[in-house]
Amino acid sequence: MGYPAHVDEVDVVVVGAGLSGLAAADHLARAGASVRVLEARDRVGGRLLSERIGKTTFDLGGQWIGPHQRRVWALTRELGLETFDTFHHGDKLLWLEGTARRYTGTIPSLDPLSLVELQVVLMRLEAMQKRVDPRRPGEGPDAAALDAITLDGWLRANVRSAAVRELTEAAMRVVLGVDAREVSMLAVAFYARAGEGVHKLIEVEGGAQQTRFRDGAQRLAYGLAERLGDAVRPGRPVRAVTVRGERVHVRDDLGETRARRVILAVPPVLARRLEITPELPPARRRWIDRSPTGATTKHLLLYEHAFWRDQGLSGEAVCDDGPFAVTFDNSSADGSQAALLAFSVGQPARELGELPAAERQRRVRERLAGLFGARAAEPIAHLERDWAKEPWSRGCPVGLPATGVLSAHGESGLSAPHGPCHFAGTETAREHYGFLEGALEAAERAATEVARALE
Ligand SMILES: Cc1cc2nc3c(=O)[nH]c(=O)nc-3n(C[C@H](O)[C@H](O)[C@H](O)COP(=O)(O)OP(=O)(O)OC[C@H]3O[C@@H](n4cnc5c(N)ncnc54)[C@H](O)[C@@H]3O)c2cc1C
Repeated sequence: MGYPAHVDEVDVVVVGAGLSGLAAADHLARAGASVRVLEARDRVGGRLLSERIGKTTFDLGGQWIGPHQRRVWALTRELGLETFDTFHHGDKLLWLEGTARRYTGTIPSLDPLSLVELQVVLMRLEAMQKRVDPRRPGEGPDAAALDAITLDGWLRANVRSAAVRELTEAAMRVVLGVDAREVSMLAVAFYARAGEGVHKLIEVEGGAQQTRFRDGAQRLAYGLAERLGDAVRPGRPVRAVTVRGERVHVRDDLGETRARRVILAVPPVLARRLEITPELPPARRRWIDRSPTGATTKHLLLYEHAFWRDQGLSGEAVCDDGPFAVTFDNSSADGSQAALLAFSVGQPARELGELPAAERQRRVRERLAGLFGARAAEPIAHLERDWAKEPWSRGCPVGLPATGVLSAHGESGLSAPHGPCHFAGTETAREHYGFLEGALEAAERAATEVARALE
């Protein structure tokens, strides 16, 4: 089904019906503006994707929220969505140099010297992120030096123990979705600052993984889209944005929409493909061109029974190598459908992505069996979603600046409007960059800018 090719006129066009675009449109529609949301996919939600399997809804995209993420909690309550705590009771597992070991708490069991070093590394990362001003990440005292090296470079220069380096890298790889050699250390420190610290980023209890949505996180997007009704137009990939006099002309495959303002609520890797006239300022262009999105494949394995819980295991594991970097218990809210979640991230995800599905899944199950025992290799279902292969995401969970971007362009590069073009999307957030909360914060900021301009 499509809409006829014609020219429409509204106050504001929003490009992208992910959480950020929908929330920005919702703010503006409620303030009385006429809005149109053009979405390339035939669905809303972008990096949110919930699928019903049997009696349970599982998320193949974003799924967790943390207690400190106030906007997403407010929206959850407003829409009346039910949430529940992520299961995390019991010991965790560490896969290190070919063997699995149990541990409790946040810090894995290592030899005493490595353990001390791991704690020191975490303390140094926390101290580093505290020195970043999230409003102006490119301007702090350490900004230039940190932006000149990658996370990998920093780890090599500062961490002696290979095990500690690999573990820190594995944990950060999962959070960021990119390999340590791809991302600027300043971007990592900014990301941690925006997420209220490294511990909050990696922990379940009290951290960003604490809470899940009973009926899937995509309900956040559906709830907003329902409110916006006919203003949301799926199946309309935008190709060009042209400023002509007082109007912006937004061209998609089915027609043109004219508006006083446009909000681009797409990740940098896709903003790059838009033909924007006049050309974006160099700072913004550079930021868009040099913020690749990570590669993450989410593997969801369903079981008859959560057998790891019987062994006193939480389902959480961290691996220093292999097909995936971490696992979580991802069972349904009432525990009736047992499930494990494994994240393949960065280069391993790209390499696995090249293999036939049967071989890829065999490798994932083999490692799961190494961690949780033979039963882990026999799920009743094995689902996977490789976000790098999604043409309208081209990776996940987030686009992050490479070296030399943040310190050179700082604030203007992140989100400053370009004439009547405004920028939303989690990659323009100052709080909880990369998260659902960040998508909402960016929406709020972009909608405020636009509302002022329309006055
Ligand atoms: C596997 C995975 C796990 C994650 N886990 C979590 C988590 O647990 N907690 C958390 O907070 N966050 C998580 N995230 C990140 C979170 O999902 C994102 O931060 C958030 O959904 C981003 O929303 P957005 O609106 O900024 O971008 P998107 O959701 O990417 O929305 C952009 C929209 O724009 C559309 N689009 C792109 N180009 C065009 C175009 N040219 N024309 C029209 N439309 C276009 C896209 O189709 C998309 O719908 C995860 C992401 C993934 C993929």
